[in-house]
Amino acid sequence: KEPPSPYFSSARSKRNGKPVFTDSMDYVLQKKLRVWCSASDEKWELGQIQSISGDDVEIHLVNGEVLTLPPERLLPANPDILDGVDDLIQMSYLNEPSVLYNLQYRYSRDLIYVRTIHQALDCSWSSQCLFICVLLSLQTKAGPVLIAINPLKEVPLYGKDFIRKYRQKLTNDPHVYAIADIAFNEMLRDGINQSIIISGESGAGKTETAKIAMQYLAALGGANGMESEVLQTNVILEALGNAKTSRNDNSSRFGKLTEMHFSETGKICGAKIQTFLLVQSRVVRRASGERSYHIFYQLCSGASPLHRKKLLLRDANYYNYLKQSACLRIDGVDDAKRFSSLLVLDIVQISGENQMELFSMLAVVLWLGNISFSVIDNESHVEVDSNEGLVNAAKLLGCSVPQLVIALSTRKIQAGKENIVQRLTLTQAIDARDALAKSIYAHLFDWIVEQINDSLGTGRQRTRRSISILDIYGFESFNKNGFEQFCINYANERLQQHFNRHLFKLEQEEYLDDGIDWASVEFVDNTDCLSLFEKRPLGLLSLLDEESTFPKATDLSFANKLKQHLSGNPGFKGEQDGAFKICHYAGEVSYDTTGFLEKNRDPLHSESIQLLSSCKSDLPKDFASVMIADSQNKSTLSHHLFVDSQKQSVVNKFKAQLFKLMQQLENTSPHFIRCIQPNNKQRPRQFEHDLVLHQLKCCGVFEVVRISRAGYPTRMTHQQFAERYGFLLSHSVASQNPLSISVAVLQQFSIPPEMYQVGYTKLFLRTGQVAALENAKNRM
Ligand code: ATP
Ligand code: MG
Repeated sequence: KEPPSPYFSSARSKRNGKPVFTDSMDYVLQKKLRVWCSASDEKWELGQIQSISGDDVEIHLVNGEVLTLPPERLLPANPDILDGVDDLIQMSYLNEPSVLYNLQYRYSRDLIYVRTIHQALDCSWSSQCLFICVLLSLQTKAGPVLIAINPLKEVPLYGKDFIRKYRQKLTNDPHVYAIADIAFNEMLRDGINQSIIISGESGAGKTETAKIAMQYLAALGGANGMESEVLQTNVILEALGNAKTSRNDNSSRFGKLTEMHFSETGKICGAKIQTFLLVQSRVVRRASGERSYHIFYQLCSGASPLHRKKLLLRDANYYNYLKQSACLRIDGVDDAKRFSSLLVLDIVQISGENQMELFSMLAVVLWLGNISFSVIDNESHVEVDSNEGLVNAAKLLGCSVPQLVIALSTRKIQAGKENIVQRLTLTQAIDARDALAKSIYAHLFDWIVEQINDSLGTGRQRTRRSISILDIYGFESFNKNGFEQFCINYANERLQQHFNRHLFKLEQEEYLDDGIDWASVEFVDNTDCLSLFEKRPLGLLSLLDEESTFPKATDLSFANKLKQHLSGNPGFKGEQDGAFKICHYAGEVSYDTTGFLEKNRDPLHSESIQLLSSCKSDLPKDFASVMIADSQNKSTLSHHLFVDSQKQSVVNKFKAQLFKLMQQLENTSPHFIRCIQPNNKQRPRQFEHDLVLHQLKCCGVFEVVRISRAGYPTRMTHQQFAERYGFLLSHSVASQNPLSISVAVLQQFSIPPEMYQVGYTKLFLRTGQVAALENAKNRM
């Protein structure tokens, strides 16, 4: 009989008095199993233990090399039957190199999808039980996370035949279709709204994944043409909200929630789109080699001669806003052709008249960028040059040239009871011009979304049959992080909390259903970090807002204020030169406060709002009334609606949007997809370990693993367990029912009681237990 394995007893250590389960090396060393070795700090290599003498372990690497290392440099590797499993939780060891190896193993075979948590049943073990498993998994909830690694090339995984296979449950391979299918079924069966939350870095494949999910739902719910209307909205929003960046030729510079509504019979009957935090600065400025929003280039190269004449349009390289980043084209993309695909504007019922207004506002933005200024005194005060840009912008806006000149070069300030008109300096005038261009673009974007929503019938009654797909920027951590990263990472903290709560709830439900005591499942959340942001009056957001309203404040005074008030907080660290660090769930990020205050204040001046409201064209007037309504929301006390300091700050607006989003998501049953970028070169077949590892950490995959490990990740029915391991018994069991056999196996292998729980129908095992049983089995 086997002696009690040291593996079982040493796998447990204590942290804060709570048990923590780690991958134990003892058993692996004793049995001379496969291990991951790290000779240097960066790289892990797979090998097999050959011998152990004292503290030296000799390992034969797969590539034939022999290494001698101390045990601290080793981690257990999974038995090869677990190579490339489609559910990470099936793995006995969930350390970093094991997870990476699994993903790479699959990726190199074009298996770009992996689940990260049990589907309650384990389907990969034996072909005999596959049939039962597939049948049973029809009733089980899928795990909360699908990992999707961007193939960066076409992969033969989509289309009608695949849709049919997932619809008819002919396959259990992880896929976006499988997630969409579960959401669709749950929605119809339980009458609960669903959400599919997609996150990941720029270029990781979120937008494509969202479209793949929408295609599946459109195929299932198609009937009256509404489905193609919903799909076509992507073309329009990508034209206006996507741009070429250094990381992605088609990078979405906004977050998007698409809510699809279904009838009782599962047919699409409407949709609604909400957008978040469009990056406005791109319209006027961006890094060299990147482009502004696609629509500008499409318009310039694809507009008909008639349009060109009406819009006073020239080629893209004629406009300062477009030519300054020295990139007008994208390889393999025909902008003129893309412009003609914007005919879908008709499909979503945007009238010819409205389309013309849209295009003329785009032309306004372009011409604004060609307006220049001349300094007229030695204090750098300016006057506006009377050039083509000025004349054309005024004409298209429907205002007079002098009105535009006043808005761009002067400011009214209050001195006592009087208003004084002050001339702007060169920097101020350029800022005023750019702020006007950005603001027109941002309002245009919102206006298009509104038009689309009108056409998709959001006025109709809300049903409890909707699926919302969220395509939103994931956690970002660069060498230099600014205001955008600050907002994005704040949003991700909220989403992570949602994720944690859901994950915990799901675990808890399954334990309760099977009569298991779940109190021993350790659960850590990110409430502290969120409160660092949201606390009033001394949280990051409040302090930023407060500082933004002081006219004399600078980014540095803001940084100092943070230091002064938040230094006691363990999640915060004030740094040199106006920087500060936040300890996020995905790691520490250092933010540079440069530009924080300016970006947080809405930089559009009251002169510009007044200009827009006095224009003859309809759209500028509409935009002005939205801006005025916004400032009224912020302060009903103010009698001066145009006082700049009364405008709602950017973080405040963002927070309100985020809260609304979270509220909506809370009322849905969520499904998570984490997209992973395999390399930074946008090239297929290249899998960079460090990059992938960093993303897995950022999107909380190891957190899932950790939470699951704290629980009982391996679940098998009594029947499955007895079938698989019953023959290992060295003595016969009185009662031959699966439960008695299973318990006898557990006892024979001296698995301590804290390592498993016996439920009504299933056995729940702590991580690593199966590896040991598998090993015993293989030796038989
Ligand atoms: P961003 O945050 O910058 O918007 P993203 O995560 O939305 O990035 P996508 O635009 O969806 O990234 O993907 C980038 C590119 O990767 C796509 O243009 C496409 O070429 C490729 N890609 C993504 N997913 C797939 C897929 N499933 N199959 C084939 N190619 C894909
Ligand atoms: Mg995108």
